[in-house]
Amino acid sequence: MSEPVLRLEKVEQRYRQGDDILSILKGADFALNKGEMVALVAPSGAGKSTLLHVAGLLEKPSAGEVHVGGRASSGLSDDDRTALRREEIGFVYQFHHLLPEFSAIENVMMPQMIAGLSAGEASGRAQQLLDYLRVGHRANHRPAELSGGEQQRVAIARSVANAPLVLLADEPTGNLDPETAGYVFEALEALVRQSGLSALIATHNHTIAAMMDRRVTLRDGRVVDLEMSAAD
Ligand code: ADP
Repeated sequence: MSEPVLRLEKVEQRYRQGDDILSILKGADFALNKGEMVALVAPSGAGKSTLLHVAGLLEKPSAGEVHVGGRASSGLSDDDRTALRREEIGFVYQFHHLLPEFSAIENVMMPQMIAGLSAGEASGRAQQLLDYLRVGHRANHRPAELSGGEQQRVAIARSVANAPLVLLADEPTGNLDPETAGYVFEALEALVRQSGLSALIATHNHTIAAMMDRRVTLRDGRVVDLEMSAAD
């Protein structure tokens, strides 16, 4: 089997809280294979966001290694780690975090232009992605003029604008009503499947988790496989 697109090896993450040290990840191992969609299902406070932030090179772990596209990240300079993150990782949050003063299409163009594409190239791809996520007709609206489901679809388009290797999502449908959540997840799943992306998605929604290839949870700071029946 080829090298996983994302691999966490003995990852530890500790936070200082006053005089205490909180140990959140305690030797977490995890591998995401090409084309795979994995659900991360765990109670609040278990460390899902921490795991996603470390996997997405947004936070440096206290110990252990994160490999992205076969490249170990711990020895990289801050600039090189940022470059690896920008090139290979897409991140979707529970709240859309779109820039309010820019239109939907401008929000999706932005990361591409930071990566060096011309405005023409960036807008072509942005419109294509918005169309694919069925929000293309809202391209010129600002985030405040969009519904919650539309905002999340624009945020998903933005996260994959630079064709990353790995998509990480932290409860991307957590703020949506169940029907909209299902619709947004279906759009996300179609995009991941069609583009050969790999995704690790934290969710509390068991219907959505059941649609992915496998499910993992966090138990005592480690990643373990989860059978849905055991979690119910
Ligand atoms: P989840 O996403 O599963 O709800 P988190 O990863 O957000 O869990 O948080 C796990 C634990 O780590 C929580 O107790 C949280 O308060 C703590 N934590 C997360 N980030 C920090 C931080 N930067 N500093 C201190 N504590 C943190």
